[in-house]
Amino acid sequence: MGHDATYVLGVCFIFDRGVVIVNGKVGATENKDTDIYFSIREMTQKQRDHLTARTWAEVDLDAIADNVRQTRLRIGSRVKLMAVVKANAYGHGAFPVSSAALSAGADILGVATIDEALALRNQGVQAPIMVIGYTPSEEAGIAAEKGIILTIVSPEHANAISQVMACNEVPKLAVHLKIDTGMGRLGAASLSELDDMVDVLSQKNIEIEGAFTHFAQSDALDKEHANRQLRMASVYFTHLRERTTGRDWTFHAANSAAIIDLPQSYFSMVRLGIAMYGVYPSGDVTTQNLPIHQSMSLFTRVSQVKDVQPGVTLSYGSTFVASKPMTIATLPIGYADGLHRMLSNRGYVSLNQHQCPILGRICMDQTLIDVTAVPTVSVHDVVTVYDEKSLPVLARYAETIPYELLCAVSQRIPRIYK
Ligand SMILES: *Cc1c(COP(=O)(O)O)cnc(C)c1O
Repeated sequence: MGHDATYVLGVCFIFDRGVVIVNGKVGATENKDTDIYFSIREMTQKQRDHLTARTWAEVDLDAIADNVRQTRLRIGSRVKLMAVVKANAYGHGAFPVSSAALSAGADILGVATIDEALALRNQGVQAPIMVIGYTPSEEAGIAAEKGIILTIVSPEHANAISQVMACNEVPKLAVHLKIDTGMGRLGAASLSELDDMVDVLSQKNIEIEGAFTHFAQSDALDKEHANRQLRMASVYFTHLRERTTGRDWTFHAANSAAIIDLPQSYFSMVRLGIAMYGVYPSGDVTTQNLPIHQSMSLFTRVSQVKDVQPGVTLSYGSTFVASKPMTIATLPIGYADGLHRMLSNRGYVSLNQHQCPILGRICMDQTLIDVTAVPTVSVHDVVTVYDEKSLPVLARYAETIPYELLCAVSQRIPRIYK
């Protein structure tokens, strides 16, 4: 078996395609084509050149680990820390991020779907994993078998899960109850709905371990809505504790913004998402409360340079017309790589310390930029699509949030782990 790479904090080694060794335990990855991880430190020059020939993302796992440690300092040792690694860890790579976060002291992983949980189990992750989104009742058996904690979102859902589990021989299923305190998405919307959920789920192979809610506006400057949700959550949690004296509950509410700005919301666990990746949830949170640094940067290279005369039009729809002589560079990155088409004729990338405007429509695989102001530009020059400084700015141009740009980094972009 020729080996491709070795990487990550001494806990995990990757050999060949799709085979992962975590803490000495071998596990085959589910999708042999997509689960390839590299460390830039361990790569041969040839592998490195190949991976960075077109467009690539660099992911700094030390930054992830530092951000987890900073969060731990903020929340203290008694509050559990969930590392939220849904959506392929916000585009960063679920497995390497999970390994880094767990090594840095995360207690549990949070994912959005049962498939994301199963993929991590198949890769050899033994830590607790919780699906914080909805799981159809058909999947309760496999969740129990693989020790995956599920979220119960309504009395109907509780019923369905309880029926599936009643005719199952599998081990106990652990669940948390979702409470809707103002997000309007999932969860019990009254104490009586919550009571119904507890009643229906009280059977021998189901363990109700926790309950939680989710903030709609913890990242806003005005915390009125968040505080209202917080007061309501306390009422629900107190009710559950009084109903079931002696039971050890895991209550949780805080996302990144609440970790940063609402220490009263920590309860027994926090759910760390965007801040683990070193990105603030909004421009309105108190950044000094949690010093973090961004993990992912996105790069591409110039594929062609040309001079154009006034009147020349660029890209689909000819939406950009040169009004003066210009120098244009073509980049091998498009919306299929995660560069939002919304950025057509908006926003900048950076080349040799210059900000270069995006010109014309972004194509599926290619984008044009203005390099007129850059003294020398050659094919193969590296272009920073975004880094720590420019991600929030680019997100604003795309009329979205950094979360969406990170998640959009597509499967065909190699992630290089540092
Ligand atoms: C995604 C998610 C989080 C993490 O949110 P961030 O803003 O990224 O910290 C926490 N809880 C739930 C229920 C989520 O869906």
